[in-house]
Formats: sequence, structure tokens, C-alpha cells
Amino acid sequence: MGKISRRSFIKGSLAAAGALSVSAAPLPASAKGIGPGELATMLDIGKCIGCGACVEACRDSNEHKFPEPDKPFPKMYPPRVKTADWSDKRDIDDRLTPYNWLFIQYADVEINGEQTTITVPRRCMHCTNPPCADLCPFGAARKLKNGITRIHPDICLGGAKCKLVCPWDIPERQTGVGPYLQVLPNFAGNGVMFKCDRCYDLIEQGELPACIEACPEDVQTIGPRDEIIAAAYARAEEINGYVYGDKENGGTNTIYVSPVPFDVLNEALEKGPGMPHMAPVPDSMAHADTLAKAMILAPIAGLAAGFIKFTGGAKPSSQSNKEES
Ligand code: SF4
Ligand code: SF4
Ligand code: SF4
Repeated sequence: MGKISRRSFIKGSLAAAGALSVSAAPLPASAKGIGPGELATMLDIGKCIGCGACVEACRDSNEHKFPEPDKPFPKMYPPRVKTADWSDKRDIDDRLTPYNWLFIQYADVEINGEQTTITVPRRCMHCTNPPCADLCPFGAARKLKNGITRIHPDICLGGAKCKLVCPWDIPERQTGVGPYLQVLPNFAGNGVMFKCDRCYDLIEQGELPACIEACPEDVQTIGPRDEIIAAAYARAEEINGYVYGDKENGGTNTIYVSPVPFDVLNEALEKGPGMPHMAPVPDSMAHADTLAKAMILAPIAGLAAGFIKFTGGAKPSSQSNKEES
């Protein structure tokens, strides 16, 4: 398949998909499944040179969405609810933080008898059936119809349920920001969770996500999910390579193609807090009991969002939320 990338594609499909909106009621994403307007990205990591231009572009482009916490932080009860403060460590770029939504992970591997280092851009996978959105008790994490999963900073209380249920532990908390400061600052929440929002605002305007636009090697390609999946398998066949993200967690909208098997890559990757793995992931929303729990939570989410809007508790945010209003 010809590459779906850059401007030839962007002005048509992306803009149309960007105009699609999340439903007003915070239904579980699982109720929607994979929609016809979903966009996916393919990352051909054999082409990545680890230059970091994508990381820099992400930070520059999304800086206006980064948290500006009030200090000192309210004292939490019980004290085991830990604060998370990255505001004095904004320069950290070798892991995920509330101020770094994309980083480059390194893996020393052998290809055809030669030692080489593979560099892997890592961020939210944008699952097709995201547990973070299904199970957020307040409806703050939502899947948009174009396949983006977003955490709304004016609704999130920072309880970190999304991180708990994310197979890759992606969202990161910053304390001292968000509606918890107005609602129950000493007893609930403790900040706002942050992660890649796949530049939903740029996509709304028919533009490419910043990391894709900045890459000098065209590592990433974005397009309709079925075309991206076909392109990924075609590329894998061409290089005798492997695919990750198509089946993981029941399917994601981030598809990696690698010249080495992903078990080898995963073994070689440095892992730890803020550094996701690349192991196989079963479909975490496959079980009916989990789905039922999500369905029960949906009305609570609506009530919570309504309460916050009604009380005017949420601080104004620079992020657009027009798709949800
Ligand atoms: S990777 Fe984690 S944070 Fe991203 S959509 Fe999936 S469950 Fe949510
Ligand atoms: S899609 Fe946007 S928010 Fe996500 S990693 Fe790329 S530049 Fe950052
Ligand atoms: S800009 Fe492209 S080549 Fe450079 S690190 Fe990012 S994905 Fe790799």
C-alpha cells in the first residue's frame, strides 16, 4: 500500500475524523468498539534514528496543556495518598511524565549477527477498547470517535484508576492542579493524570500530530485503522519483521513494526516507572464482569461531570473541550 502520511492524506480524512466527537454521555468505550472513523498510527521502528525530534516537537506543541500546579499542595488524609510533583523536573525526557508524553526507549539487540541499538518512540497506545476510559469513575478519560483516548483535565481528580487499569501504566499524575482542589482537596484525588492525547486539537484542524510532522525519517504513518493494519503487515512481510499493537489489549491504534521479534525487543528494553514494556497483553476488557462494572460506572461518571460543571469547581483550562460539551 502506498504510504498514508503527510499532507496528501491529512487535509481529507484527518479533518473529517477530527470533526467527529465523543458522545455527550460518557458511555464505556467498549460499548462503541472500533468505529469506522478510527485513525491509527504505524511506527516503523527500524527507520527510527533516535534523534528525539519527535519528543521535542511533542513538548513544544503541547506545552500549553502542561500543568501549572498551586503550591504548597494540600495535605492529604490518609497520608498514604502520595503527591506526585514533576513541575520542577520538566526537563526529564527519558521516561513518561506529565510534562513528557513521548520518549525514546533503547534496546540493544542482534540483527543478522550484528549488534545494534533499536530506538522506540513510546507513548499512549490509544487502545481500541481502552480500560482507562471504560473504568474512569468520573468519565474524565474518554475515547473519541476518531480513536483518540483523552483525559479531560477539568474533570480528572487524579485518583489514578486509569493508570491502575492501563496495561502499560501510561498516565502520569501531577499534584496541585485540577478540580480536586475545589472539591475535596484533603481527601480525594490528588491532581490530574496526563498522557499523549494524539494531538487531538491539531487533528481537529486537519493537521498532523506534532511528532509525526517533525520526524525526519517518516517513522510514523497515520491513517484509517484498517489501512494502517494492512500497511503494517505488508511492511512486516517486506522486512521479514514483526507487528505489535494490532492484537494487544484487544487491539490498539498504535501499531509498531520491528525487524526483531517483540519478545527479544521487550527483553532488551529498559523498563521501570514511566517506561512501558512491549510484552503480549491480553484483552483486559474481554470479561463480562469487567464490562458490567464499566456499564454501572457510566451514570456515576455523568453525575460527577455534571456536579463539577454545576458547582463551577473546575478551573478553566487552555484545552478545548468543545467535542464533549
Ligand atoms: S495505553 Fe493505557 S492510557 Fe492509553 S488508551 Fe490504552 S489503557 Fe488508556
Ligand atoms: S501524538 Fe501529539 S501528544 Fe501524542 S506523542 Fe505525538 S506529539 Fe505528543
Ligand atoms: S523524530 Fe523520528 S527518527 Fe527521530 S526519534 Fe522520533 S521517530 Fe525516531
